[in-house]
Amino acid sequence: MSAKKLQSIRGIHDGLPGEVARWQRVEQAARKVFGSYAFSEVRMPVLEPVELFVRSVGEDTDIVSKEMYAFTDQGGDHICLRPEGTAGAVRAWLQGGLTRAGAQRWYYIGPMFRRERPQKGRLRQFQQIGVEMFSAPGPIEDAEILAMAHAFLSELGVPELKMEINSLGCNSCRPGYRDKLVTYLQARADRLCETCVERITRNPMRVLDCKVASCQAELGDAPEMVANLCDACDRHFTDVQKGLDALAIPYSVNPRIVRGLDYYNRTAFEIVTDKLGAQGTVLAGGRYDGLVEELGGPATPAIGFAAGLERLAMLLDDDEATGPDMAVVALGEAVQGYALAQADLLRKAGLSVVHCGGGSAKRQFKMADREGVRFVAVIGDDEMQAGTVMLKNMATGEQQSVATAAVAGCTG
Ligand code: ATP
Ligand code: MG
Repeated sequence: MSAKKLQSIRGIHDGLPGEVARWQRVEQAARKVFGSYAFSEVRMPVLEPVELFVRSVGEDTDIVSKEMYAFTDQGGDHICLRPEGTAGAVRAWLQGGLTRAGAQRWYYIGPMFRRERPQKGRLRQFQQIGVEMFSAPGPIEDAEILAMAHAFLSELGVPELKMEINSLGCNSCRPGYRDKLVTYLQARADRLCETCVERITRNPMRVLDCKVASCQAELGDAPEMVANLCDACDRHFTDVQKGLDALAIPYSVNPRIVRGLDYYNRTAFEIVTDKLGAQGTVLAGGRYDGLVEELGGPATPAIGFAAGLERLAMLLDDDEATGPDMAVVALGEAVQGYALAQADLLRKAGLSVVHCGGGSAKRQFKMADREGVRFVAVIGDDEMQAGTVMLKNMATGEQQSVATAAVAGCTG
């Protein structure tokens, strides 16, 4: 009797070669564009103290109240798998003593963990490409960050994306707005979903982006933050839009955009598609001027965003299936050593090469075929004597004897 096969945890899946090739395209676009804006890559730990997220993301958010993979380790420390990257980035920046090093522009790529209900585009382990800019005081930085997000997705060539922006106000104008919103929501509490009823007291702005249709229907003329901004926030928001206009970046103001994390203020934004159903947000971010101070550092304005790698990859066309450049087919025991050495030389000449492992010619050619190679280098006694390979073009069937050193030049 065979043993039962083990499965991965629900909502956590493997990245197999075809999908990883698509992830790599997204990553390459990110590295290229973020590099052009002088951002540097950082790599932060996956395990962080639970306290970090309680203090930053906020106790009343969905992430902290119900989605974290948290546990107490053997030493009694409260640890979790990071649900997002910004809090850890701020911690790393403070811990690394970089507060006096001038403006810092960081990006990172890695897995995040949230115990959400798995569905298309919503996983329990997913990857984010995140960006953080510390010491970013004004609307110019906001416009640049938005421009960088736009350039990244343009470089990737994902069609039909929309940029939506909003302002979440600040500590001086948001409380007044929040009160107005709570009054509005309380009058409709009996028609809101259970979660939203709870949100009215705990996190009322989060009701605005509830995915339940009947909740959206109740929000028709809900008060909007953009209409309740203080003068300073209003000016900031206007200047961000002027920046985007100067850069000719298309956007619209969506007063329903809020973020699911407590630390955001002023500019918040999303880039959305209508091709992924309810999971249409591929990139989201905003300004978080209070977070560094909240985590024990000096007052430092900052802004960032994170893109969902899997969601972006779903929007890409399949890669053209490209096999290795070449397969080495070795005919007979006597040539094995020579064939191994030729495979090595061909790789050093820049080709991707699979060695078909010797044995019968039929098996080796079948393998070369399955690999989808463009060329086969056939090696027998004559080739070994002459220091050559018999190069076969798999598309045309043509064969020619070529000195190994010259093969790379014949495969262009
Ligand atoms: P949503 O409203 O879709 O739940 P969010 O507000 O929780 O998103 P953020 O915390 O801002 O998302 O994360 C930034 C991006 O990371 C999202 O726009 C999305 O592309 C991706 N993302 C977030 N949660 C998941 C998930 N569970 N699975 C896959 N991708 C995710
Ligand atoms: Mg979420």
